[in-house]
Amino acid sequence: MTSLPSSIEIVIVGAGPAGLACALVLASKGVPFLLLDALSEGQNESRAAVVHSYTLEQLEAVGVTDTLVSRGIHMGLFTPVADNGSTPFIYIDITGSLAPYTKYPYALMIAQVDVERILTARLQELGGVIHRQKHVTKVEDVDGALVVSTDSGESIRAKYVVGADGSKSVVRSSANIAFLDPHTGKPSVATDDDLQIVLADILLDEPLPPSIPKDRLWGNFDKNGFVILIPLKSSIIEPKPNTHLYRFAGTVPQGTAPHSPEPAYIQRIIDERGPGSSHADSPNLRPKVAFIASGSRYRVRSGLSVQFAKRMPISGGWVLLAGDAGHIHSPAGGQGMNLGLCDGIRLANALIAVTSGVEHADKAFKKYNDVRRPAAQSVITMVEGMTTLFAGHWLVENWVVKTLRNWTLRAVFAIPGVQTAAAWRLSGLVHRE
Ligand SMILES: Cc1cc2nc3c(=O)[nH]c(=O)nc-3n(C[C@H](O)[C@H](O)[C@H](O)COP(=O)(O)OP(=O)(O)OC[C@H]3O[C@@H](n4cnc5c(N)ncnc54)[C@H](O)[C@@H]3O)c2cc1C
Repeated sequence: MTSLPSSIEIVIVGAGPAGLACALVLASKGVPFLLLDALSEGQNESRAAVVHSYTLEQLEAVGVTDTLVSRGIHMGLFTPVADNGSTPFIYIDITGSLAPYTKYPYALMIAQVDVERILTARLQELGGVIHRQKHVTKVEDVDGALVVSTDSGESIRAKYVVGADGSKSVVRSSANIAFLDPHTGKPSVATDDDLQIVLADILLDEPLPPSIPKDRLWGNFDKNGFVILIPLKSSIIEPKPNTHLYRFAGTVPQGTAPHSPEPAYIQRIIDERGPGSSHADSPNLRPKVAFIASGSRYRVRSGLSVQFAKRMPISGGWVLLAGDAGHIHSPAGGQGMNLGLCDGIRLANALIAVTSGVEHADKAFKKYNDVRRPAAQSVITMVEGMTTLFAGHWLVENWVVKTLRNWTLRAVFAIPGVQTAAAWRLSGLVHRE
């Protein structure tokens, strides 16, 4: 284990997607930093599974886009159904809509663990180091510096501390930055009303029923919530003969999900609400779960930090937030990891401008806050709208209202320009500066 310096200008806390992206940009420009993470290795549980067009464009600057693109599945169509019907209630031709505007006109389906591994490998190529098993316990604002303390007794004096330490950010709380529910304006905390989702990386037996696509998401939205199957590639899951890897995501009532789901548990949800589960379908049309590589459960809620950049009163140093430390929300539309990666890149560019003397800190970090906080706010609004439209109780429990919703959505998505607008927002291209 290498010892840490006692002082350095930039400390990044957290080597998830946001911290890695920030570190990569700094490393690519030769700007020194210290990257700390509490864990002994990267996480490998089921989490995000999609990288969107804008993020791929942004990651070009650090030379990882080609590798990501070559490792994932390119989803060119988004065609979820309602009540296990055969006609999509939303139809978005992502490739057709985005091809004139970007080199990456698709949603790239790839496990978060692989995204993190590709970023880490590139960081190492550029000479960057992740100091692991360094749990940051507090960041203090003292005369002349911010002091970052770890549970192994180190103290590092810094001028800029990046909080990329996830939704329970110690950096954010040390700086007294409130993390609020954007609707109530009250602190964002877990409640029993939160939506609960079970995630699992599963191997499905051959033959796959014809209803399950191998190149795009299968999604069903009904009164019990949603079930989604996403074809996936993953470097950490050993392939088994005659099986296909999918990411399963399904909403379940609070308190009913096991911590680590077994195949029988996922199979039951697929049999009830997955492909081939409508009464008219033969049981032979249902996919069979052969194996679960990893599984998790989590609660969905929204939270947004009141500021992404704070000049600390005593030292004059800056606390800067990126990724889940700044925002959390529903996984609808697969936006969380993308926001975090783009925050990290944008923040690194602001840090480079400040440390090289090109821009004053007040201006550069205000701009960072003014660009990325509204981007997070607009994603929260979009994904909450999607969650309500797809799974809102008042919409899906009343047969008449639901039928009206499905017809309306089909008609709306047939209007020229609507698909492009939707694809533009989902892809993040709307946040291009
Ligand atoms: C179960 C689950 C499922 C998800 N599913 C999806 C999905 O389907 N689609 C989607 O888009 N998003 C999903 N997300 C969200 C997505 O994973 C996050 O948006 C993304 O990981 C955010 O990246 P980040 O770098 O901000 O934070 P994180 O990935 O949380 O990384 C934070 C890092 O900081 C480290 N750290 C934390 N505290 C400290 C400390 N005190 N000291 C040092 N290091 C610290 C952690 O070890 C970690 O490595 C899911 C999240 C979870 C938890």
